[in-house]
Amino acid sequence: MNALAATSRNFKQAAKLLGLDAKLERSLLIPFREIKVECTIPKDDGSLASFVGFRVQHDNARGPMKGGIRYHPEVDPDEVNALAQLMTWKTAVANIPYGGAKGGIGCDPGDLSISELERLTRVFTQKIHDLIGIHADVPAPDMGTNPQTMAWMLDEYSKFHGYSPAVVTGKPVDLGGSLGRDAATGRGVLFATEALLQECGKSISGQRFVIQGFGNVGSWAAHLINEAGGKVVAVSDVTGAIKNRNGLDIKELLKHSVGNRGIKGFRGGDALDPNSLLTEDCDVLIPAALGGVINRENANHIKAKFIIEAANHPTDPEADEILSKKGVLILPDIFANSGGVTVSYFEWVQNIQGFMWDEEKVNNELKTYMTKGFKDVKEMCKTHDCDLRMGAFTLGVNRVARATLLRGWEA
Ligand code: GLU
Repeated sequence: MNALAATSRNFKQAAKLLGLDAKLERSLLIPFREIKVECTIPKDDGSLASFVGFRVQHDNARGPMKGGIRYHPEVDPDEVNALAQLMTWKTAVANIPYGGAKGGIGCDPGDLSISELERLTRVFTQKIHDLIGIHADVPAPDMGTNPQTMAWMLDEYSKFHGYSPAVVTGKPVDLGGSLGRDAATGRGVLFATEALLQECGKSISGQRFVIQGFGNVGSWAAHLINEAGGKVVAVSDVTGAIKNRNGLDIKELLKHSVGNRGIKGFRGGDALDPNSLLTEDCDVLIPAALGGVINRENANHIKAKFIIEAANHPTDPEADEILSKKGVLILPDIFANSGGVTVSYFEWVQNIQGFMWDEEKVNNELKTYMTKGFKDVKEMCKTHDCDLRMGAFTLGVNRVARATLLRGWEA
């Protein structure tokens, strides 16, 4: 099932549980605005290259729209639409005053030089600068983008509107980025996992983890879980997969992956077929890479008892059904990976106040938000007698629906 069909299906199920009016349901589903722009840049060799950029602004009932910009060859309007919708529910679950948006450019960042990436980012920003803004829509990094991308966006936007650090988050700290933002999604995954395991009478230490993805989210999650006493027994990234039943040395793996642009060739474990990573024997599975990876083909073979969705939309609804019958507990993306956007909110607040927090404050506040988020999700599970995904969806959708009704439609 494609990402948009899957996300909309989850939304509709939540709307039904909440008893939402059909017209309100329809209005919440349709994106506020969809932007598609042509981005042509001169390549380093003087030839021209054209790319298509998207920004889908899904909803702004609860505040400025918020979400990442992804650079990936498979970026398509339907997927960006689904991810924008997920951001709307995610910011509502986190209870931060934002709506949802997502953007992307269909390109392979690995095929572009630094100066080509800079030109592409600047052209894209020129095309959308009138439609984003501190109180309108605030981009951030996502797959294939990073703090440097945000620095170029900020600089290009500022040429039109004057210096405005709060227009993007996930910036380098030297440009007003927040301490702790880099680790935030991974740290949020740690806090979310702790909350779920604690609820089940367990703790991180003693559990065996498998992590798919060793980019910003996966590598921070692996590092922090390892520090908390968890045993990371297998990891994969685009270059390959590696396992060690006694636990991988994550500090060494991090060093190797920085030096070799990937985990391939790491000596502290055995190479593994990346396709079998998700079905490796473990207690907790953390998909931290692409969407749709847990599907009806592999769901039956998954051995983990817990799945923590660090990626956006890693589990297909068909897999959800199979896994729920097997008794696997899934902590859904719109809660599990909300640490990133939550610290983006702290960054935006610091920029607006012109005051910087220390890292301890950032991490403590993040823990407070994640712990409260888990409690709120559980409360909805009780009220609607539903699983964690529907607990999170009903929580998010209900908050957005209430804000929408309060604002009204009178012209
Ligand atoms: N791209 C991240 C996400 O999917 C972060 C978004 C943000 O910080 O605005 O949640």
